Amino acid sequence: MTDDTYGPLLARAALHAGTYIDGLPEQAVFPPRTARDGLAAFDVPVPEQGLAGVALLDQLHAIGSPATVANAGGRYFGFVIGGALPVTVAANWLAGAWDQCVSSDVNSPAATKLEQIAGAWLKDLLHLPQNSAVGMTTGATMASFTALAAARNALLNRLGYDVEADGLFGAPQIKVVVSDEVHVTIEKALAMLGLGKKRVIRVPVDSQGRMRADNLPHLDDRTIVCTQCGNVNSGSIDPIGAIAEKARKAGAWVHVDGAVGLWARMVPDLQAATAGLELADSWVTDGHKWLNTPYDNGIVIVRDAAALNRAMATMAPYLKVDAGAAPKDMVPEFSRRARGVEVWAAIANMGRQGMVELFERCRSHARRFEAGLRDIGFDVLNEVTLNQVVARIGTPEQLTAIRAHVEASGECWFGPTIWRGRDAIRIAVSSWRTTEADVDRSLAAIRAAKGAIIG
Ligand SMILES: *Cc1c(COP(=O)(O)O)cnc(C)c1O
Repeated sequence: MTDDTYGPLLARAALHAGTYIDGLPEQAVFPPRTARDGLAAFDVPVPEQGLAGVALLDQLHAIGSPATVANAGGRYFGFVIGGALPVTVAANWLAGAWDQCVSSDVNSPAATKLEQIAGAWLKDLLHLPQNSAVGMTTGATMASFTALAAARNALLNRLGYDVEADGLFGAPQIKVVVSDEVHVTIEKALAMLGLGKKRVIRVPVDSQGRMRADNLPHLDDRTIVCTQCGNVNSGSIDPIGAIAEKARKAGAWVHVDGAVGLWARMVPDLQAATAGLELADSWVTDGHKWLNTPYDNGIVIVRDAAALNRAMATMAPYLKVDAGAAPKDMVPEFSRRARGVEVWAAIANMGRQGMVELFERCRSHARRFEAGLRDIGFDVLNEVTLNQVVARIGTPEQLTAIRAHVEASGECWFGPTIWRGRDAIRIAVSSWRTTEADVDRSLAAIRAAKGAIIG
């Protein structure tokens, strides 16, 4: 043990973090080879004697910081990776100092309360049923896992089976309906739940990747329909209202994967696209994507609080089955960190209006990309209604070379995808930090790359 004390260490962490954040505009967005090779300096045997905290932080900053991906800055457009609002990072530090275990209010009155408030605010902001239960997970993958466990419980429970007690052995088969554009993490959740990632019925999609409500299979009271609000490529939104109306009549359960785009619910001119979304049974989204909290942060909301509680409770489920049940009885984790604090901080800091502004601003940046890419000669392959742009130019090899050229420039970063069978690039504007100048600077880098590769 070294004789570290908190004060100097936290001051040192703040110093390095400040230097890091301030340097982001000039840091290569994807770390250069030299910085990545520098990580080899961490390859040492287990230290026999400990290293003092300040020296350790200096090492983290000197070797680690240059080899990070600069998604905390304004010119990272890969996957759907948000930045982190300043107040959420700071709240995360404070909550780290609290070191709370958010299993129940016996372990942390403060963190449990903040999580409940954040949950209530989310239901209000997203216009979801106020009696729904809310849980905080590591991300949308675990949020969907949690919601689909509640779905499995509810359907089988109604048929007289106690799946938590008896497992799936001998239980009626559950039918799972997904679209051809289902996200891989829904498949993973289904696999973990014993529902099988291949044993699904796939519904075709339209040109934007939306599930076709007119192509649904027969639905019944043993069916789970997985829809999405925000396609990971195009940003498109399934006709959830129409799907949910049919599903309700049949007694089926509708799940909404809104990891990317549940926030569309708050954008005034996307009201029509998200109409009826409140008729679903469960919804997930991510704090760490568009809400701009630090990792890791996912949110699950389930209409039938008792079903969620029966699936997740670590006590006799009849003790408390309402939306106010303990955090440990809403999600897979028993002990965990106070991630609701960051959700609370983000909402408290931005307010409803600030959130709408953030989402609209990101979308307008996406549209600026759309126009700029067209001007360079790209085909834009999707309708840019959310924060996502899918585009292509030249041959697949040229496109790969353009991406590599842009990456090497350090100016911005975006990933490849395949959209409707064609190689494309995919740009997601998810960060509070991105400005018009960032978009223009990135477009200039793309234009230069296109000039170098295609002419
Ligand atoms: C990112 C994403 C997920 C998974 O979310 P994690 O937070 O990475 O677990 C699920 N669905 C969609 C549509 C996503 O974009």
